[in-house]
Amino acid sequence: MTIRADLSAAVGHTPLLRLRHASALTGCEVLGKAEFLNPGGSIKDRTALGLILDAEQKGLLRPGSIIVEGTAGNTGIGLALIGASRGYRSVIFMPETQSREKIDALRVAGAEVRLVAAVPFKDPRHYVHIASAYCESLNDVRPGSAWFGNQFDNTANRDWHAATTALEIWEQTEGRVDGFVCSAGTGGTLAGVGRALKARKPGVKIALSDPTGSALANYVNRGELLAEGTSISEGIGSSRITANFQGAPIDLAWSIPDQESVPLLHQLLREEGWCVGGSSGVNLAGAIRLAKQLGPGHTIVTVLSDAGTRYQGKLFNPAFLREKNIPVPDWLDKAFAV
Ligand code: PMP
Repeated sequence: MTIRADLSAAVGHTPLLRLRHASALTGCEVLGKAEFLNPGGSIKDRTALGLILDAEQKGLLRPGSIIVEGTAGNTGIGLALIGASRGYRSVIFMPETQSREKIDALRVAGAEVRLVAAVPFKDPRHYVHIASAYCESLNDVRPGSAWFGNQFDNTANRDWHAATTALEIWEQTEGRVDGFVCSAGTGGTLAGVGRALKARKPGVKIALSDPTGSALANYVNRGELLAEGTSISEGIGSSRITANFQGAPIDLAWSIPDQESVPLLHQLLREEGWCVGGSSGVNLAGAIRLAKQLGPGHTIVTVLSDAGTRYQGKLFNPAFLREKNIPVPDWLDKAFAV
């Protein structure tokens, strides 16, 4: 398929990359799904497309509809771009703590961006509640004019990952995949890919690499929704069990500190040239842990969710990294010593 009819047809079908350092270190074949190559720059283009197609099929989205969503940024970028190409306007609510680059990308994508306070989900000012209430207020005035994507609890999200991401991984590895590992924000990727791979190969291991500051690893390991620490990663981790995460077939879960994940992504950029974001670093750390656990000779797949350029001012900013007690590689210090 060399000619894609439109933006929606250009989502997905991403290459699987051999990660050299992780593979050499573990004796496994460690592979990264290059989701940063999606048209909106992240894996969340898949979520956005899956949610939109489902809503169109149910008659919830019609030409001229307004898409409303709460997002850490990437889903909003996907919704705004796919929406633009299909005749919808987008209003996006996101916490003010997210990277400047993502906010700018959303504005450029044509979304109306509304920044709100970064508060826990139980607080009524949380971006998901505000987005949902705003959508209702539009529908009160003009019934059926707006649609709330609801990526966290709309399971069309994980279903689309099962139908596309998982199928691609299965075909690209010719069924050799022994383990799949990634972090979870909505949980759509982990649950969708996890379920679909287990259905094809019950022995496949599914693992969660959770950033510190998230409660999910503790929940999987001990049944407690307890979070410890913090992380500079964005778009991943959770303090609650979403409908998408619920029932995900997870065999192993780890809490990964920034001091482990960020040096891995710096090394990946410096030695292999792949420039990826913070969640990809957490995923890579998880892939190495899973590869060590399974032992040499296995094929491990993880996700490179978005590009590092989306976090230039944080992940590649020596002053910011020092403030967060994250090691700064010499080359990065030198690059900015002008
Ligand atoms: N990585 C990045 C960069 C993201 O933006 C997100 C979603 N917010 C995720 C990972 C997590 O994916 P999911 O929502 O499918 O759990």
